[in-house]
Amino acid sequence: MEKLEDKLFTVRNKKDEGNPHIRVLDHTVCAEKCTGKYCNHFCPAGVYLWSPETAKTLVSYENCIECGACAIGCPFANIDCETPRGGFGVQFKFG
Ligand code: SF4
Ligand code: SF4
Repeated sequence: MEKLEDKLFTVRNKKDEGNPHIRVLDHTVCAEKCTGKYCNHFCPAGVYLWSPETAKTLVSYENCIECGACAIGCPFANIDCETPRGGFGVQFKFG
């Protein structure tokens, strides 16, 4: 069976430099309330990474495949996720 990494390799992203379409609204909520750091697990593209050093959730928005999970996955509604503006974002090679 094909691995997720192999499938993600077929996806292309056009990074909208300086215009992130995803923002974590309040890093204090991540640090103090969210024990599970759920976004680090539910995002299929590995966009989110909790950084203990900076006490922030790092967001690699350029890897987003626009699956929509973060709109419902964060139990604190702490993620603002929009669709990238026209011409940017994910491009699917197959189907
Ligand atoms: S799931 Fe939400 S509150 Fe928890 S770490 Fe991610 S963005 Fe922060
Ligand atoms: S829309 Fe999907 S791929 Fe993009 S950041 Fe949210 S969970 Fe990750």
